[in-house]
Amino acid sequence: MYYGRCFLCGEWGLLEEHHIFGGANRKKSEKYGLKVGLCGDKCHRNGKKAAHQCPETAQKLHEYGQRKYMIENGASIEEFIKEFGRNYL
Ligand SMILES: [Zn+2]
Ligand SMILES: [Zn+2]
Repeated sequence: MYYGRCFLCGEWGLLEEHHIFGGANRKKSEKYGLKVGLCGDKCHRNGKKAAHQCPETAQKLHEYGQRKYMIENGASIEEFIKEFGRNYL
């Protein structure tokens, strides 16, 4: 945990690191720094709109992660799909 500003709600507090792309792509999230800091209980794990509870929140983060990857790596949508398996835009 570390102190900072939650990527989702903007509140300052102790944050947990969330890997934007989980499962098989978790290692790639780590490799490319596709992670965000979230309030542990409310925004990460248990809240109604938490990243691990709410499909819309997960989608929002996936879209952000894809754009970040494409911009930082100069990658096209096709190249993103090759690396992560699908398009989230
Ligand atoms: Zn939050
Ligand atoms: Zn997480």
